[in-house]
Amino acid sequence: MAYQADDSRYQHMHYQRCGRSGLQLPAIALGLWHNFGEVSSLDNARRLVQQAFDLGITHFDLANNYGPPPGAAEESFGRMLQSDLRPYRDELIISTKAGYTMWPGPYGDWGSKKYLVASLDQSLRRLGLEYVDIFYHHRPDPHTPLEETMAALDLLVRQGKALYIGLSNYPAQRASEAFAILQRLGTPCLIHQPKYSLFERDAETQLFDTLQQHGVGCIAFSPLAGGILTDRYLQGIPQDSRAASGSQFLRPEQLTDERLDKVRRLNQLALQRGQKLSQMALAWVLRHQAVTSVLIGASKTAQIEDAVGMLAHRDFSQEELTLIEQILM
Ligand code: NDP
Repeated sequence: MAYQADDSRYQHMHYQRCGRSGLQLPAIALGLWHNFGEVSSLDNARRLVQQAFDLGITHFDLANNYGPPPGAAEESFGRMLQSDLRPYRDELIISTKAGYTMWPGPYGDWGSKKYLVASLDQSLRRLGLEYVDIFYHHRPDPHTPLEETMAALDLLVRQGKALYIGLSNYPAQRASEAFAILQRLGTPCLIHQPKYSLFERDAETQLFDTLQQHGVGCIAFSPLAGGILTDRYLQGIPQDSRAASGSQFLRPEQLTDERLDKVRRLNQLALQRGQKLSQMALAWVLRHQAVTSVLIGASKTAQIEDAVGMLAHRDFSQEELTLIEQILM
């Protein structure tokens, strides 16, 4: 049966302006890094995307290399657009990126104009779209002049292949230089995508201030530290979890006793607040004024429901924030 979006989809979500732009983004976005490749079930992937949209998650985050194999997540999402989401295209924010290895030779990686232009063309073909809403440079390139990378992003906007530009994994100083170039070119940077969670706080040192000064929004990736900041690993490593999947991004040895002890104490605090640890971890990321959205991953629809359920209790007392700092010390 053809998918029909839930009529109540805009009643659940909070939308927030992204930096100094006209674009409002949902507090929660769904990333397609894991669970959308060829090895994953397309039926489950469809259920995840439909559930997300039904709950007001209008923003879906991809990259050229998400799979496996690279490109497969864009192809899967392209199929879902075709089968389910086409009537809703104007209600969706679809992001993709380029910056990591995609094809052999000197033009399939990093940040040259040659790579970025070709990669976005490939992404659009896989997605079956004429444009993406946000196109990111996925990581800084130490060898390509920043002017070239930024001019390529500006060109892609002018060609109508992307509406907005984002940067990911850029440290504060490099980001600041890039923002100035983009501003001069007339295509201000919309958003930055850094890693940020209770366990990953580098962005607090300088990046958040830089983003606020430049009026650039922020979408925090891996806000649950890949699943560690949930109750998933409190009784061992479940068979169907990321840590058991052989992923190089969440290896069992990262689940140290010291880390799990912190997770347990955070879990206690979350329960006292009347919510799950995953919900408290997301609310904590969103508490920062610089943060527009949290960018979650999910393997099950219940995880998306958990995330959206967090919105009912986003606030922290000063006492709770102090307790969290003590646990993290
Ligand atoms: P998270 O930190 O949100 O981890 C998601 C994983 O946590 C899920 O796949 C699931 O793992 C587990 N989980 C989620 N909710 C719950 C819950 N309620 N209870 C128990 N476990 C839960 O984010 P990701 O690391 O997946 O990254 C999210 C997105 O960020 C990516 O899809 C991508 O779009 C983006 N990203 C960007 C990067 C960049 O360089 N710009 C780098 C990395 C990610 P399980 O499979 O075990 O169920």
